[in-house]
Amino acid sequence: MRVKKRSLGIFVLVCFTVYLVMCLWAYTTVENRLASLQLVQHNTHNAQAWGFGFFRERCQSRHVAKHGHSVKQGKIGGKTEVELFNPGEHTCSVEDAARKHRVDIQMEKEWDAIQTGYPQYVYTVSGWMQVIEIQSYTVKGTDRPLQVIIVPHSHQDPGWLSTFESYYSSYTQQTLSTAVGKLMEHPHWKFMWAEVSFLARWWKDAGATEKEYFKTLVKSGQIEIVTGGWVVSDEASVHYQAMLDQLIEGHQWLQQVLGTVPQSAWSIDQFGYSPTMPYMMKRSGLKNVVIQRVNYAVKRHLASSKDLEFYWRQAWDAQGSTDILCHMMPFLSYNIPSSCGPDPFICCKFDFSRKKCTWGQSKVPIVKISDENIASLSWQLWEQFQKKAQIYRSNVLLVPHGDDFRYSGGDEWDDQLGNLEKLMTYMNQSKDMHVVVKFGTVSDYFKALEKDKQYISNDFPSFSGDFFPYNDRDDQFWTGYFTSRPLFKHIARILQSRLRLAEIVYSLSLVRALRSNSYLFSLLKTKYEHLVSGRQALALFEHHDAITGTSRRAVVENYASIIHSALKDINALLATLITSLIVTPASSFSEDSLMVLTEESSLADAPPRNIRINLQFKTVLVLTNSLTVHRNDVVSVIVSNPNVEVVESDSGKTVLYQVNPVYSRKHDWETGQYEILFEVNIAPLSLKTYHLVPITKQPWYVLSKVLMVNKVVTDLSNLFNISTAEPDRTEIAISNQYLLASFSTCTGLLHHIQRKVDESSFNVKIKFVTYGTGSWKNPYRDKSGAYVFLPDGPAKDTSLMYPSVFVVSGPVSSSVYTKLQGVVQKVTLHNIAGPLGSALIVNNDVNIGTGGDSWNNKELVMRLETDVNNHDNTFCVDLNGFQMHRKKTRSKLPIQGNFHPLTTATFLEDDSRPFRLTLLTSEAHGMASLNVGWLEVVLDRRLMQDDWRGLSEGVTDNRPTPSQFMIVLERMQSPTANTKSAACFLSSMSTQLSQYLNNPILSLVAPTTSVNRFLPHRLLLTSPLPCALNLLNLRSFQPNNIMSATALLIVHHAGLDCRFPELSLVKELCKTMSKLNLNMFTDVRVSAAVEMNLSGVQKKRTASLNEEIVPPMEIQTYKVTLR
Ligand SMILES: [Zn+2]
Repeated sequence: MRVKKRSLGIFVLVCFTVYLVMCLWAYTTVENRLASLQLVQHNTHNAQAWGFGFFRERCQSRHVAKHGHSVKQGKIGGKTEVELFNPGEHTCSVEDAARKHRVDIQMEKEWDAIQTGYPQYVYTVSGWMQVIEIQSYTVKGTDRPLQVIIVPHSHQDPGWLSTFESYYSSYTQQTLSTAVGKLMEHPHWKFMWAEVSFLARWWKDAGATEKEYFKTLVKSGQIEIVTGGWVVSDEASVHYQAMLDQLIEGHQWLQQVLGTVPQSAWSIDQFGYSPTMPYMMKRSGLKNVVIQRVNYAVKRHLASSKDLEFYWRQAWDAQGSTDILCHMMPFLSYNIPSSCGPDPFICCKFDFSRKKCTWGQSKVPIVKISDENIASLSWQLWEQFQKKAQIYRSNVLLVPHGDDFRYSGGDEWDDQLGNLEKLMTYMNQSKDMHVVVKFGTVSDYFKALEKDKQYISNDFPSFSGDFFPYNDRDDQFWTGYFTSRPLFKHIARILQSRLRLAEIVYSLSLVRALRSNSYLFSLLKTKYEHLVSGRQALALFEHHDAITGTSRRAVVENYASIIHSALKDINALLATLITSLIVTPASSFSEDSLMVLTEESSLADAPPRNIRINLQFKTVLVLTNSLTVHRNDVVSVIVSNPNVEVVESDSGKTVLYQVNPVYSRKHDWETGQYEILFEVNIAPLSLKTYHLVPITKQPWYVLSKVLMVNKVVTDLSNLFNISTAEPDRTEIAISNQYLLASFSTCTGLLHHIQRKVDESSFNVKIKFVTYGTGSWKNPYRDKSGAYVFLPDGPAKDTSLMYPSVFVVSGPVSSSVYTKLQGVVQKVTLHNIAGPLGSALIVNNDVNIGTGGDSWNNKELVMRLETDVNNHDNTFCVDLNGFQMHRKKTRSKLPIQGNFHPLTTATFLEDDSRPFRLTLLTSEAHGMASLNVGWLEVVLDRRLMQDDWRGLSEGVTDNRPTPSQFMIVLERMQSPTANTKSAACFLSSMSTQLSQYLNNPILSLVAPTTSVNRFLPHRLLLTSPLPCALNLLNLRSFQPNNIMSATALLIVHHAGLDCRFPELSLVKELCKTMSKLNLNMFTDVRVSAAVEMNLSGVQKKRTASLNEEIVPPMEIQTYKVTLR
């Protein structure tokens, strides 16, 4: 402990006095809270006497205490606040399954054998780029004909270079209308469609006959709807909840409007692939998937052993129940030059709607098929088919024929399919060719493959893993988009969390309204469209050019306004719904009682901010816990008057609160604004009322103490206890009952964490570093852009010496604010019991959009340099917040090739000591672990140029962007040495904390002086669910807008790592359960339940109301009838 002895006497006295006061509140845990005060209350000094020269000397002479790593035997098993914990055999069985998991190809292991040696791109004889060269071939078709399925397709982005609406009016509408006409005319022509958002948009405009024809074509199989998501979702930055929601939105539309359910997925343009999507596809009834954008070294490697088709299995699945057949396209792109075979020079000749092919160094004129050229062109095409068929096992060949926004005019249909038809006729009639060539859809291909499988000597291999990062040429890895436009990645997660809560509360309210309240019913009926537009706005944003930050600036603005408007509507809907639930008597309900305590700027160019409450009278706050477990949390509200106390409505008692000054980047401190922090304890899925009550004067102990380090600010209200740090002080610290966190006064940043329970300590140094751009190794001198990350070398430290640092602490929480270049960081410890008290909370307020040219072509990174010894360079990182995979940093890959998408969590494990350091996040970032003990996340990137992937723009629209992390240091019962399976799992505590980050408490305020109109609390759940079980949604289900009390109840059972002794409070949260009682809601009964496929469109079986618990890692959807 870093407490000076001379302060101990004063400290004890202060503690005692405060203790007496707090006892009056019957508050029992005050000792622990006040313990933190000691850390800043000594060591005050007159700042005027400081000399900055002294600081420099202090920093340069490295007086910072050396901490090194130390571990003492913990008191596990003794009488401490931790207990050994096992959340039940059922939940833990997933670890066992992950260890028993066997596949033929495990991607992370395979990387050891993959030849990289970038750059090593293949340039064909004609100068075209290609992934794989195939020179020789053995003719396929001698025993049974080579079947070639030509698959016409048109890839349509719901926003990229143009907005959704602009693409719709320029291309999509015409494409779909023309498709109907041409396909009705030519019964052997086929077509596919993936983006349901566009299809639904077209449906609004299409005529009745056109719609009927479309349905007929879908029924006959001439048009196949592939994947069937609202968009073709990105797979790196998207959270699984939103990924599933957009799939449900698309599948529901298809079932209700067209009566069809997709069979195969067409994932050709996502920039890398996660296994989470195949899981969702498999559980939603899809049987096959085609993927394209995979690292070219991986493609070559798999092609060399004919492993481009495989059964994709989840890394935690020991049985193979998640297997889905995957076909990987072998070449550079999904366009026509890259599809018929390995030579783009030849394949481009068959792109009949081009005049010439100008890509690469050659200019190839395109000629129509004539009697003169048909033989020659047929044989050229046949040879490409044969070469391509060499790298697959069967005698069935998939040949996509399309590109972005193709087939939008009738001429193109005739040019493409008309000419191909002539070639087909010739080839099919040629006795020497032994081929059967026909038009088909992707499911036609997989059906033919299934039949041909009997002739293949060895079945397709099983595979597990992901395909990140994507790399299409040289050392150009698409790892920049994991971070590009981070503000919108952040806001999308806010909308996701609010939408989930709105869905649950809407479904429950609708039942009550149907029962008795005709006013509420008519209101809900009119508001249903807000729920639907919220779903569709979030779904649209999951598109692989939206959340990825890879669309043009004007399109980004368009998405921003769609998200903003949805967030506004969902907030208003939530306010109405929550008011209806908590108002008393229920008959006094009127629509506009409460309002959500955040506001959004009109252009959605800034994150939602807390509204300042103008506090003159007693004010009602309604807080919502959307988690299905009990929640101990700290709530912050901004008020105009510091003289206020917080009263729990239930008990009428004042809760422990703290009054803080409000930090501002511009002025250091806001005037006329105060932050009230208070601890809340809210039951699972419930609403709870608190009152803010004006008082004449605050007791001294709730006013926070402010310690100024390295800078003296004079405009801070003298209401607070202000002190300045001694000039020779080398570190400052904050602490609570679980942790002690120390910071360097030279850098203002965290450098050390100690766990109090076992006195184990670790160096955890936060650094802010920047990457520049422009690799000298890259032959084109290309630079980073929206997609690609091309650093100019290792990152450079941007630390400021002696930045402004403020320590603000009080009975509820302690925070260290550090003002640095481009970022203000706030690191907080809350003095509360439970999971939240065990985490160090890190908030970054990033702004690299201002400050002249200094941020041009820079990427700002937060790095944690720790002494956690993961000497084999392995670490775990999540995929879509659904699962975690173990990864290895490889020296054979460049820096940018070692970056991965981070959606919710990553951790390092010490190889010799039983410790894990977890970093949780509330939004998506790019991350890496470039050195032993390091974790880094990219916070924002400002890039002045295009990266030649079609955007023709840099990324220069940076906005103030918040990001939130938690650092958790946990002790395991045993080290990880022998248990390094490919899949890894969070502890139950980190799982809880991740839920806290992703579903923050929603605060609503009543703008009225009447305090008697709200219930003190309202429980929506009869009892807590086990902590590993997540109520993913209770999605209101209203086909054709007949308002009925039906909903999709979706439950996810998270897999947990059970080797962690846990806080007894977490143990309470994680009580095991063998049955899932679907009747989990108060006031609302489930009268019938059907287990559906994941997207809720196909019935699997009638469910009992007391179901076997969902297996770990699985998501299950029940269609429930409520009454
Ligand atoms: Zn696309």
